[in-house]
Amino acid sequence: MNFALGIDIGGTKISYALIDNNGFIKNDVQKVSTPKTAREIESMLKNIILKYENQIEFIAIATAGTVNNENDKVIGSTANLPIGYKDIDFLSLSEKKVFVENDANCAAWAEYKIGASINCKNSIMLTLGTGVGGGIIINGKLLKGKSGGAGEMHFLMSRNKSRRCTCGAWDCFEAYASGNGLRQTAVEICKDENITTYDIIERANNGDVDCQKSLEVWQNDIALGILGLANLFDPDCFVLSGSMEKFVDVEKIEKFVNSFVLTSPTKVYHAKAGNYSGMIGAVLLGNELI
Ligand SMILES: [Zn+2]
Repeated sequence: MNFALGIDIGGTKISYALIDNNGFIKNDVQKVSTPKTAREIESMLKNIILKYENQIEFIAIATAGTVNNENDKVIGSTANLPIGYKDIDFLSLSEKKVFVENDANCAAWAEYKIGASINCKNSIMLTLGTGVGGGIIINGKLLKGKSGGAGEMHFLMSRNKSRRCTCGAWDCFEAYASGNGLRQTAVEICKDENITTYDIIERANNGDVDCQKSLEVWQNDIALGILGLANLFDPDCFVLSGSMEKFVDVEKIEKFVNSFVLTSPTKVYHAKAGNYSGMIGAVLLGNELI
């Protein structure tokens, strides 16, 4: 069996494990806090790789941020990583081949190969967390666009200029469908500036009508975004992942989308590839592309 070293680089932690070419994790997943500077991240990656280098065929990195079409450089959207992260020369980290891809794209690929969208040649994955990540697979290929950054879920949901998005524009899908979007919706409905997503879920479960309404509005915004994506891409299915997806009723969203969709009906699934779908997807995608 051949192994690759899968590494997932996020704003708060770096996880890694040996993964075989079927996407199975060999050993326990190791986790370390993401260092505060790009230079420290680079030397940490070198040390991690050094430990495993003689056991692996290549290194597959799933990272926050946009990755170029050559899969060797981060080119943007790295707000949660230190300044200088984009300058890391990933290829120089090892004598072995190094493959890099955006974490949401990697997770979408893992779902397509071993998870909820298996055998769906056209699928869209949305990662609902603090923000919203996206990965689009068309005709069995990851949609990357001219620079590598396709699949960013920043498109207009409202003309009210009511929410500034993390990208700097107003009222993007992310500003409504993310965990932060849910919080903002609850601030407006519950008239509570300090409410947290945890409060919203807990209070809704305890019968608080305003918090229940906030969740309903948030879910409806997600459904509206998915409807637009369904009309644009005509996918076999959508896969929802991330820390917020467990609060979403996929059957309700699917029913709503299919009652308005202009193309044929689509499916909406919960993700199945697990917490490590980023590094698994990086290895599975790297297997095909390098
Ligand atoms: Zn935006």
